Amino acid sequence: MRHGTVTEPARILVVGGGYVGMYTALRLQRQLRAELRAGAVEIVVVTPEPYMTYQPFLPEAAAGSISPRHVVVPLRRVLHGCRILIGEVRSVDHAKRTATLSTLATAEEGTGAVDLPYDELVIAPGSVSRTLPVPGLPDHGIGFKTVEEAIGLRNHVIEQMDIASSTRDPALRDAALTFVFVGGGYAGVEALAELEDMARYTARYYHNLKPEDLRWVLVEASDRILPEVGAEMGRYAIRELRGRNIDVRLETRLESCEDRIAVLSDGTRLPTRTVVWTAGVRPAPVLAATDLPRDERGRLRCTAQLAVEGVAHAWAAGDAAAVPDVTAEEPGRECAPNAQHAVRQAKVLAENIAASLRGQPLKEYAHAYAGSVASLGLHKGVAHVYGRKLKGYPAWFMHRAYHLSRVPTFNRKARVLAEWTLSGLFKREIVSLGSLEHPRAEFELAAAPPPDHGDKPSS
Ligand SMILES: Cc1cc2nc3c(=O)[nH]c(=O)nc-3n(C[C@H](O)[C@H](O)[C@H](O)COP(=O)(O)OP(=O)(O)OC[C@H]3O[C@@H](n4cnc5c(N)ncnc54)[C@H](O)[C@@H]3O)c2cc1C
Repeated sequence: MRHGTVTEPARILVVGGGYVGMYTALRLQRQLRAELRAGAVEIVVVTPEPYMTYQPFLPEAAAGSISPRHVVVPLRRVLHGCRILIGEVRSVDHAKRTATLSTLATAEEGTGAVDLPYDELVIAPGSVSRTLPVPGLPDHGIGFKTVEEAIGLRNHVIEQMDIASSTRDPALRDAALTFVFVGGGYAGVEALAELEDMARYTARYYHNLKPEDLRWVLVEASDRILPEVGAEMGRYAIRELRGRNIDVRLETRLESCEDRIAVLSDGTRLPTRTVVWTAGVRPAPVLAATDLPRDERGRLRCTAQLAVEGVAHAWAAGDAAAVPDVTAEEPGRECAPNAQHAVRQAKVLAENIAASLRGQPLKEYAHAYAGSVASLGLHKGVAHVYGRKLKGYPAWFMHRAYHLSRVPTFNRKARVLAEWTLSGLFKREIVSLGSLEHPRAEFELAAAPPPDHGDKPSS
């Protein structure tokens, strides 16, 4: 027990409330039910948001097919046996078994950070967008990893259509209707394909916009897109997108996007007000503020049992961890950063922590990658799963069926299914609620003193 005391419960600290954090805590609360009830163990989850985001549904949330509330899972409801702390771990001194964190309360009270001692550490802060030093990107780019970004982008696209429809300036109209996505992995391709589909439909409600007026550009540095579904299905996806007039540029990079002009490595200059950056991920920055071993890419070095290498009482999985792939034919390969591994690793990780607390042997994580499914808009998709290749409607249906089976909790499955069913019966949602981002704007205007026009009060 911590600091040699026997009265305190052993504290398991889980950093992050995403795939790994939520599933690990969920399984731990089941595995250690007796210990939790006896007060011998406590599980503390530190997370910046009180919900887990089901990221594969973000493109559909951006398209308006799923409402943002149903893309997230409320942690307090699911993890009723755990303590949820809304905050961020700033650093970890594992030698002292202490994490330093800032919470909403420390921010309000102005007390800075607080120290939280622990006995076992699960470190699962995932990844952040991997940006490159592209001039203008920090000012004009947007990522696609959070529900806020997905909904913000949906509102932004519809707002650009409103601007284009109401301006008399052709240059402004062209820039508003040009959408540049950088990165051809599933996040970028699905986000672009779903938003293009949504915008194409929405255009029919504008008197002076046609779908052909909108310009969608996908910029990819390598010679293929969607590597997750294999080369053949990736080529199909390119044909599908190009068939919809989407400008797919392979072996091309974004060089700069200053002054709202995207300059590509092939010399093209695209005036645009939208640059979506989905060119890969890098491990969460907090890992650099720990005394745990990291690999050259900044991920925590882990064993196949999901313990941090060479350190006792520290565990990791998901995008933040370099976990050996014991199923790979070539030695030295590691598991790719995806949800498929994250969910399964979390299960083994929780079981291994419970086993280690009970002095039992640990298991190895072994999962052969099953392939992937991707949506290319309503009724369009591509899949390569267990050696089977599907495209078009069957792939899209498989994508929906797979993710419906995977989204956590029965509650969320039922709500998502209800939304899909209703959207099959009614017309698509084309509304943008951009003003939700500034809820006080209307009141501030009403409460502001009236403008002084120099009028003298009449006596
Ligand atoms: C748009 C999109 C679509 C995707 N689609 C697929 C798909 O179809 N199939 C698939 O297999 N994978 C998909 N992925 C990838 C998948 O979502 C990730 O691999 C998975 O989320 C990794 O899980 P994780 O627990 O490591 O990280 P996350 O799920 O990202 O969780 C990390 C958590 O840690 C929190 N955190 C970060 N820093 C701190 C800190 N300092 N202190 C406390 N908490 C912190 C974060 O806020 C977050 O809640 C997609 C990703 C995106 C962005």
